[in-house]
Amino acid sequence: MSFDIRKFGLLFSALFIFAATAQAQSAKEIQAALDAAYAKYRDLQEGANADYIPALAAVDSNIYGIALVTTNGKVYTAGDIASEVSIQSISKVFTLAKVMDEQGPEMVANTIGVDATGMRFNSIVSIEFSQKALGGPEMNSLVNPGAIATTSYVKGDTRDAIWNSILSYYSDFAGRPLSVNQEVFKSESDTNQRNQAIGYLMYAYGYIKSEPMRATDIYTEQCSVSVNAKDLAMMAGTLANAGKNPVSKKQVMNAENVPELLAVMATAGLYDDSGKWLYETGLPGKSGVGGGIIAVSPGKFGIAVISPRLDEAGNSVRAQKAIADISAALGGNPLAVKAR
Ligand code: GLU
Repeated sequence: MSFDIRKFGLLFSALFIFAATAQAQSAKEIQAALDAAYAKYRDLQEGANADYIPALAAVDSNIYGIALVTTNGKVYTAGDIASEVSIQSISKVFTLAKVMDEQGPEMVANTIGVDATGMRFNSIVSIEFSQKALGGPEMNSLVNPGAIATTSYVKGDTRDAIWNSILSYYSDFAGRPLSVNQEVFKSESDTNQRNQAIGYLMYAYGYIKSEPMRATDIYTEQCSVSVNAKDLAMMAGTLANAGKNPVSKKQVMNAENVPELLAVMATAGLYDDSGKWLYETGLPGKSGVGGGIIAVSPGKFGIAVISPRLDEAGNSVRAQKAIADISAALGGNPLAVKAR
């Protein structure tokens, strides 16, 4: 049998064209899923901006941006990806990631806990219920008491050193240098007496070892970091890609800690509707009162939507709907598998 190089070449080109088309089609499908969700919810006005932080009430409620970053580094967007909002509670995920990287995931599980509180994100009663003496810690780093304690564990000799290391860690996730919205930071600092009380109580119970007001202040600053939908999607995409930024290719987070981080997001990422969200989408996610939501389809993509109108639970109305639709269209639910 003779080897016909021309036939082989033809077969090879056909395969190549097939593969290239398949890839182009899937890029088209992804863009179509984003466009469809964008159009479907563009006119939805349900919900309202958070207003317990005065600067958030003033944010344009109509901002609506969608971004998706695949683990092979492709970026898709729809709508407004230029406007920035404050990251708010979504920051809690990345400070938790940092502490896991610095001190290991067991430390977080043993000191703060990795359980849902079943109470509001800024509940003071939840601190009482979570005391170690009562069989705790029954808390997690994505509610305010656990988040302020988590921030207090970030390593650094001075406030500046701690802050710079947090901000540069966030920036590596986003793949660009992020900065703080000073107006939001000031507005929240002037009105965060409840978080200060939480900080002191966490100190009184020994969760925070020292300087509770410094921890609360840094926590407030981390919540004021300014992001657009693409930044958030890149941060989520880095988590989807085992801690490696899929575009810059930098290994930002220790890959070994990502499953534990995603587990906490799945447990407590969307306030009191975390169970409902997981039931509907299967996606570890995190929302913030600034109007952003991130969600992670491990190994596939990270997605983010910004839209400031929130529902009663504090989750962006349009962001929840758009992410659920897009993930369903792309088979993003990690809990849904086909039989072999
Ligand atoms: N900085 C906000 C607070 O502490 C974050 C709340 C949130 O986004 O859930 O109240």
